Order: sequence, then C-alpha cells, then structure tokens
Amino acid sequence: MTTSNDEPPDRRLHVGPALSRLNLYDLAPAQLQKTLGEIVFPPFRVKQIVQWMHHRGVDAFDAMNNLPKELRAKLAERFTLEFPHVLERTAPASDGSQKYLFVLPDGNRIESVYMPMRDRTSICLSSQAGCAVGCTFCVTGFFGAGRNLTPSEMVGQFFIVQREHDVPLELMNVVFMGMGEPLLNMENLVPTLDMLYTNVAPKRVTVSTSGIIPGIDELAKLDRRPNLAVSINAPDRKRREEIMPITKKYPLDALMAALHRYPTDRGREVTIEYVLLAGYNDSPADAAALARLIHGLRAKVNAIPFNEDPNLPKWMQRPTDEAIDDFVDALVESGAHVTVRRSKGREIAAACGQLRGKTERKLPQRRVDRALRTEPAEIERDVVHRERR
Ligand code: SAH
Ligand code: SF4
Repeated sequence: MTTSNDEPPDRRLHVGPALSRLNLYDLAPAQLQKTLGEIVFPPFRVKQIVQWMHHRGVDAFDAMNNLPKELRAKLAERFTLEFPHVLERTAPASDGSQKYLFVLPDGNRIESVYMPMRDRTSICLSSQAGCAVGCTFCVTGFFGAGRNLTPSEMVGQFFIVQREHDVPLELMNVVFMGMGEPLLNMENLVPTLDMLYTNVAPKRVTVSTSGIIPGIDELAKLDRRPNLAVSINAPDRKRREEIMPITKKYPLDALMAALHRYPTDRGREVTIEYVLLAGYNDSPADAAALARLIHGLRAKVNAIPFNEDPNLPKWMQRPTDEAIDDFVDALVESGAHVTVRRSKGREIAAACGQLRGKTERKLPQRRVDRALRTEPAEIERDVVHRERR
C-alpha cells in the first residue's frame, strides 16, 4: 500500500454523507418499489415513477408530468433524485470522446468518459472518489483513498452523459473503468447494476478490477453477471507486486484461479487488461509469459499503452509504436486474442483521474476549491483487432 495506514483498503473507505432526504436512486429496484408502495397510491403511480426514473433517468419530480402535482410535491418533501453535477467537460476529441468532471454533494470530484464508437457507445463510470489500492502507475491511486460512490452517484453519471449525447439506450455499453475499485464497493455496485440493467443488458456491462478475489467470487454468484475485466498488467508475481501492491494481499496464482472459476457462459470472455510500460513489461518475452499465464482461460487481452502523467514516476513511459506492435505480434503468435487501445497525443479515455489530477497536482495535499481549467484533451483511439495469422 502507498499509505501508512495498516488497515486493508476496503475498511478505510467510508460511505457518503447522510442526506436528510433519501435519494430514490440509492435504492435497488425492489427496494424502490417497496418504499414507494408504502406511500404512493394507487399502485400504478408507483410504476409511473419507476418508469420515469429507470427508463428515463429524470432527476426532478416536476419532470414527471403524468403525476398529479400534489403527489410530486409530496415526493419532493421526502425524497430527492439528485445526480452529480457536471463541473467540466473536455472539448470532444478527434474521435468524439469526451471526459466529464463531476462534483458530488460533499465536494468530491469524479470523472466519466463518453466514448462513441462505430455502432455503439460506451460510457466509462467511476465507482469511488479515489482509490486505496495504490497501483503505482495510476493517477487515481497516486491521490489515494476516497469514498465509495453511492448508486445515485454511479447511475447519475450514466444518465447525464447518455442524455447529453442523446444516445439511444439500446446502443449503450457501460464499463466500470473510471476512478476507483468497483469490487471494493460491492454494496453500492450491485444495486447500480440492477438499475442499469433496465436499459443495458448484462453482456453490455463490464466491471474492471485490480483483482479483488472476494469481489470476483461475489460477482460470479449474481444471477445477472456483468463481464469481468481484470487488470493484470505484469506477466509474473514479482513485477505485479511492484506495480500493484494489492498482489501481496491477493496473490497472482490465487487471482488466476478465481478467473478460471468465473463463469464465461454464452461465448463471453474475461478481459485481461495490460498496461504497457516501456522497458518494463513490454518485451516479446513478456508477451509470451502473459500468454502462458492466461493459457486455458476464455480471455482476450486489452493492451493499454501507458498514459504518462507528471504525477507518476518518471521512469514510467509509453512504449514506442514499434514496441507495442512487437508485443501484440508476440501475443498473437502465442495464440492469444488481443485488442490494443492505441492513443496519439494525450489520451483521455484510458486512465481516469488524470483530469482531476491536473489541478490537484499543483496543490498536492489540499482540496481544490475552484473550478478546474484545463486545455481540451486530444485523443485518438484506434482499436485494432488482430486475429492469429
Ligand atoms: N480499479 C479498476 C478499474 C479502474 S482502473 C482496475 O484497476 O481495473 C481502469 C484501467 O486503467 C485499469 O486497467 C488500469 O490498469 C488502467 N490504468 C490506470 N492508470 C493508467 C495509466 N496511467 N495508463 C494507462 N492505463 C492506466
Ligand atoms: Fe485503483 Fe484501478 Fe487505479 Fe489501481 S488502477 S489505483 S485499482 S483505480
């Protein structure tokens, strides 16, 4: 761990501030029905409210224009539908991607990314305001632990970005690859998934983890399972411990066993994320070792060239395009299924936490109270699918 606190990271996280009125988006669908059912009559009104929320993502009772005014007022007295507030959006990059910076009611800041693709659109959501896992290549890890996001804060990121771009809900993919470790926030992740599933099928939702084994096993037990992505990032235990200290708690061999246990039915694959660091884990020999590590797993590798950032160690650099090609070729030769996320210029999509970090690095230990001013980030993502030749 990068902190001196001896507590495991999961215990150091705490939940958001108690609001005087209950946010209805913090309730799982069944709980929402029950809560509304106790005070809203006749029952078809409950249905209407749920429709407005989970199908339309409205964040004001007044927008529910088929409800009587008195009912809307009564609801507003007891409950809220508050979402995070957009503080800033980067200008669209050349591929249309945009990063959003949100502020939460307690002043915490989180990021989401809108990523239009040829036939679908992905939204990358944050699950925590910070991260206690402390991977050494990650800006969110650099700034340390935050708190768990509530379901309303996660589902709010989704609806705000979806609405701004008017994306048809049936074309949405959701990835939990933003700030934080989603599997250290299971309690809020599960109701969030249930709300998202109203519009986005589980096979269109991916949860990315640094390898929290109990969380993976819990996810595996869900009736409606999201896809699993795991940040492996190193081909062996020694190097993984160096850059991902969580490996000491959840060893690589035990993690691989958990991945083999994760059900990959209906043609699904586990995604193996692998951040490429020049001269560290990017050689063809490392690719062969990675292929051996994941042998027998229904998996595809997502190679992510490292995103440089002034807050991160100077020795960490993005490999050259040639080195990336050689790594990918070696993986393909070893029989692995690989996609590579190639970025030119400053990439915004891969590493969340960097937009927030741009200002915070100037005042490392203090909370920044003014709105962020950043230059528009440029990104070009060129996702190359390569099959074995
Ligand atoms: N905590 C989860 C999800 C958020 S991080 C996890 O670790 O999987 C999402 C992805 O961003 C991870 O695969 C991580 O390895 C990658 N990442 C973090 N910092 C990065 C950087 N500086 N450059 C490229 N990828 C990075
Ligand atoms: Fe946390 Fe993921 Fe960043 Fe590691 S890579 S510090 S787990 S957000």
